[in-house]
Amino acid sequence: MAAFKAWVVEKGEGGQSLTFRDFDEADLMEGDVTVRVTHSGLNYKDGLALTGRSPVVRRFPMIPGIDFAGVVEASEDPAYKPGDPVVLTGWGVGETHLGAYAEKARVKGGWLVPLPEGLAPEQAMAIGTAGYTAMLSLMALEAHGVKPEAGPAIVTGASGGVGSVAVTLLSRAGWHVIASTGRDSESDYLRGLGAAEILDRAELSIPGKPLGRERWAAGVDAVGSTTLANLLAQTKADGAIAACGLAQGMDLPSSVAPFILRGVALLGINSVTTPQTKRREAWARLAKELDLAKLAAMTTTVGLAEVGRLGEAILAGEVRGRTVVTIV
Ligand code: NDP
Repeated sequence: MAAFKAWVVEKGEGGQSLTFRDFDEADLMEGDVTVRVTHSGLNYKDGLALTGRSPVVRRFPMIPGIDFAGVVEASEDPAYKPGDPVVLTGWGVGETHLGAYAEKARVKGGWLVPLPEGLAPEQAMAIGTAGYTAMLSLMALEAHGVKPEAGPAIVTGASGGVGSVAVTLLSRAGWHVIASTGRDSESDYLRGLGAAEILDRAELSIPGKPLGRERWAAGVDAVGSTTLANLLAQTKADGAIAACGLAQGMDLPSSVAPFILRGVALLGINSVTTPQTKRREAWARLAKELDLAKLAAMTTTVGLAEVGRLGEAILAGEVRGRTVVTIV
């Protein structure tokens, strides 16, 4: 196949445009493994790339899509051979390197992980970057040494992709999970994933005191800004918050009080360039620890042609859980 179907972001005088069109295989970027992409996912960052709302695309033309599952078609990397099922998240794919919303991708073999045993490709993309980031957050909390006996764990942006997987993983790990959401209608959904309490996100969205009542020992924050500041201010002594997102904003209007008066830790999560060993550990744990019935309950499936309308929807906070994009 000399050409394949792809979503393409281009930049012209009128700004960024998005089209679904044929893409010439000869125009794929450098890489030692060519993959027939079968599934992708929809993440917040994909919303930013598809709409151009934030400058995450830094090469034009760009095929957006930051994660995929697929089958190796050709490989110059001895670690992979044709027919191998693989997964990719991060590494600038869909931002600086041609990405996943296409029938083909060419990437560095070192960016791939083998499809984890026990997961179908569509399940791997139901997890996707968001779910993988939720696991990295849980691993960071564990590495810090904070345990469920210390108190509840809060998850913000709970109805979203990172949030839904984080609620599921933390509850399975024994935490009393407080799910913070702006969507009252999703309370039953969140309880079904394992949330013990629902908190209206409005309570965390407005500026609060530098130190407040100690309410949780741990947290996974997909929201940033004032919400993260309030999370820190209400974390129990020696607790920790894993910060991975910015759905409310990139700012952090906080103070040093939680750190110096309560020994609270802020753990940064970057899923894009995680080294291979940790990457594989996270995927192996997801395959083992994530309840697949709950994963199915949080997943919606769409076709590749539908991707164009989903960027606005995810940025508006209208997408629940995870969305899998079926490509072939
Ligand atoms: P989603 O859009 O699926 O989830 C985000 C959720 O945040 C929404 O569903 C909503 O949850 C909540 N939210 C949205 N807008 C606001 C707002 N203005 N104030 C407070 N809460 C809000 O996105 P993802 O799960 O894909 O990603 C979540 C965040 O994590 C993003 O910022 C993303 O960029 C980041 N991320 C970072 C990674 C990393 O490597 N650090 C990797 C993956 C994601 P509800 O309706 O329940 O309130």
